[in-house]
Amino acid sequence: MERAVSESRIRSANDAPINSRGHFALYWMTACRRVHWNYSLDRAVEWALKLNKPLVILEALRTGYPWASDRFHGFIMAGMRDNRAALKDRNVLYYPYVAPDENADKGLLEALALKAAIVVTDDFPAFFLPNMIRSAAETLTVRLEQVDGNGILPIADTDRIFTTAYSFRRFLQKNLIPHLCAPPKASALKGRSLKNPSRSLVEEIQKKWPPAPLNDLNATPLNLNPYPIDHIIPPVPGEGGAVRGLRMLKRFIMSGLPHYADGRNQPDQPVTSGLSPYLHFGHVSPHQVFHEIARNQGWQRQKSAEKKVDGRRAGWWGMDENAEAFLDQLITWRELGFNMCRHDEKYDRYASLPQWVRDTLEAHEKDKRPYVYALEDFENAQTHDSLWNAAQNQLVREGRIHNYLRMLWGKKILHWSASPREALDIMIRLNNRYALDGRDPNSYSGIFWVLGRYDRAWGPERPVFGKVRYMSSKNTARKIRTGEYVKKYATRVRQPSSH
Ligand SMILES: Cc1cc2nc3c(=O)[nH]c(=O)nc-3n(C[C@H](O)[C@H](O)[C@H](O)COP(=O)(O)OP(=O)(O)OC[C@H]3O[C@@H](n4cnc5c(N)ncnc54)[C@H](O)[C@@H]3O)c2cc1C
Repeated sequence: MERAVSESRIRSANDAPINSRGHFALYWMTACRRVHWNYSLDRAVEWALKLNKPLVILEALRTGYPWASDRFHGFIMAGMRDNRAALKDRNVLYYPYVAPDENADKGLLEALALKAAIVVTDDFPAFFLPNMIRSAAETLTVRLEQVDGNGILPIADTDRIFTTAYSFRRFLQKNLIPHLCAPPKASALKGRSLKNPSRSLVEEIQKKWPPAPLNDLNATPLNLNPYPIDHIIPPVPGEGGAVRGLRMLKRFIMSGLPHYADGRNQPDQPVTSGLSPYLHFGHVSPHQVFHEIARNQGWQRQKSAEKKVDGRRAGWWGMDENAEAFLDQLITWRELGFNMCRHDEKYDRYASLPQWVRDTLEAHEKDKRPYVYALEDFENAQTHDSLWNAAQNQLVREGRIHNYLRMLWGKKILHWSASPREALDIMIRLNNRYALDGRDPNSYSGIFWVLGRYDRAWGPERPVFGKVRYMSSKNTARKIRTGEYVKKYATRVRQPSSH
């Protein structure tokens, strides 16, 4: 079979065979929730053509996962609306399913898999997804394949954990180019003569597990009241979906990218892409982002500095400094987090910190803190520091924090918590409860960076931080303009409940 997807992106999750008597190939969409630039879809199409079966795409949303809320349901359902529209006239059966209660989706995948010849799904290395796929693999009696469409580098192409961005960048500079030559298809279904899927294929199953109605997906605002999820965290209006994601990418290239290198740290005039939630939920592909940036820069692979292997950021691609700075975040920093999650199951635990970090933090664990706040104080933005409170208010209101202030936000939680372990717990809870891009490998790389992962020891040694990098609101306000930001986020629109 002609391979649309390279070997290193595909893993069998079980040893079950292909069921040649199955009625269709099933793509179970869990992390790459898009129909463009999607390796899993490419792979599922490949199987459908080879087996001469129709293709069914199940995009399901459950309710019982940690931090499930209106905010995340709203974002994901906006994506379902776009996927449904994109697949409307295509020869596939798209089956969006939103579980009405915690156990309602039980048995759905198994029922579909019993009728399927093969199941293809996404391979995401964090949050509840690896466990969900593991337990599906134990139950299904048909082959379950996982496809890694997370980054430009297949995660399996690394066999060790990279502990610095520098060493990872060096590795990428040696190994990335072949993967840029094998992107996923911009339109996997275009020009493909897939077998016509008849509704009757899944009719019985859909009686028991009815697809999310079009009216529900198209409604603005979405009616999320029926779902047993956290209704305190409201959706962010207008956010979510591949259409909006692409629009943001194009807008960023026109107006943010030209100022990115100098402007990305300025919260008063944000110029960054805002794409992290779209990358997190898979509404936008990193390949697609790279492709648009490369096009904007008139970049050609042949002319690229392919032989540059010095681990430095500048001059890697031979693009302008804005594009180089942006691609370093999108590729080096973003994919560093995926590398960690795949190779260390303890990626979200304190014990995963480097030894020097634990030594220095523990040496200062008993130091007197200038302030000690509890989770509720942080959550309700009730600290003495107006810049910190503004960052927390932005997180609660918009599901985001400006990148530079996110670092400060974390550093001050470390400074003002009773212990580093408690600081870690607070950061994870707040980030994952409110941030649209939370619960991602980069949630953990960002939060653990605050505690010292990927960083070096800094002097002078300070109370509480020890040798871990220190940041303060005073220095931040000296370095960057924050006046407008503090004014804009002085209050929160809604008061969330405490836990
Ligand atoms: C305490 C803390 C928590 C964080 N939590 C998250 C999180 O939950 N989810 C998340 O995606 N990122 C997280 N980050 C990293 C970073 O803050 C966000 O990726 C970035 O602010 C997203 O904004 P943007 O899309 O406008 O980024 P842009 O500057 O436009 O960058 C483009 C893309 O590159 C990636 N990127 C940018 N900066 C980083 C970085 N420092 N580390 C890794 N990838 C990066 C993101 O995918 C981003 O969308 C965290 C950082 C810190 C310090």
